[in-house]
Amino acid sequence: MKGWEKNIRRVVPYVPGDQPAGERLIKLNTNENPYPPAPGVKRALKEMDYDRLRKYPDPASLALTDCLAAYYGVEKDQVFVGVGSDDVLAMAFLTFFNSEKPILFPDISYSFYKVWAELFEIPYEMVALDEGFHILPKDYYRENGGVIFPNPNAPTGLLLGLEQVEDILQHNQDVIVIVDEAYIDFGGRSALSLLDRYENLLVVQTFSKARSMAGMRIGFAVGSPRLIRAINDVKYSYNSYTMNMPSLILGVEAVRDEAYFKETVGKIVKTRERAKERLGQLGFTFPDSMANFIFAKHEKAAAVRLFEALKERQIYVRYFAGPRLENYLRITIGTDEEMEELYRFLEGYLEEDGWKAQKNI
Ligand SMILES: *Cc1c(COP(=O)(O)O)cnc(C)c1O
Repeated sequence: MKGWEKNIRRVVPYVPGDQPAGERLIKLNTNENPYPPAPGVKRALKEMDYDRLRKYPDPASLALTDCLAAYYGVEKDQVFVGVGSDDVLAMAFLTFFNSEKPILFPDISYSFYKVWAELFEIPYEMVALDEGFHILPKDYYRENGGVIFPNPNAPTGLLLGLEQVEDILQHNQDVIVIVDEAYIDFGGRSALSLLDRYENLLVVQTFSKARSMAGMRIGFAVGSPRLIRAINDVKYSYNSYTMNMPSLILGVEAVRDEAYFKETVGKIVKTRERAKERLGQLGFTFPDSMANFIFAKHEKAAAVRLFEALKERQIYVRYFAGPRLENYLRITIGTDEEMEELYRFLEGYLEEDGWKAQKNI
């Protein structure tokens, strides 16, 4: 071993879903929105003055934070934006999780939490979900250095009611509680309404899922001015210009078109409810998802094999190895047409698979 090798930081990175290239593939593996961003985003992109790229963007990202504050009915000093919610969450870990006591998050959840905890050397404990994959608020009553969970949870899609979220907050008033609401627009009630009563609450959302802009990388946090000031201090100690000029302009356009946002989210919710029926008829079981994906398993078909067979047919879904997850596939809700193709393939596959099982091949 060379002397310098021992100075290299060793980490186990988060593994994002595949981004395969190709025209005809059906991409249901990273919870992207199947519909394009709002028409105003396209217009603003075409009209963008490229000479502005010469200059640094606004380090405070005021156009976007002010617009989000107005949309969500909070004060301007209650909003923080970042390069996707991954950036916002990483900053929040750095800023708010500095206790000797372990932070708590669910054992089956967004796998990035563990990666950040390791990277920033934050002690953590993963709290087991119950048999049915539910987060139980009482498991979060114990002493800790902070709490974070997604609501709805990923990859299960299960939603905690606002009362349960408040239950967790009530029992954790001495630490910062982060609610990661990447999927809240697909059917949940946001914890934003609890901000007035809990100064230690940080709500994090993203433009990547319900707002169809994963490629733009925009995420944001809403919290008390105290928390927002603290996370900004850390941001300015790390990188002053996180948000590029196009993302500030296009982000505002996406927020402006509320009608389009509601329409596309409504379509996805309708397709999801139909998917629950169709997958149920095909023999799949799944937690009752309130997100834009369904976490499904089949009694007879092994998930890995089905995953590979789907991939061969250019249908991409997500498979997670590991205890309690290995029998499941996480299927993002696509357009109705994409989902019909999925059901058609599954019908054929399961028929053939059933036949193989009978014949013992
Ligand atoms: C997708 C996702 C994020 C991150 O999304 P960004 O694209 O970085 O905004 C954060 N948390 C959860 C639970 C997610 O599923």
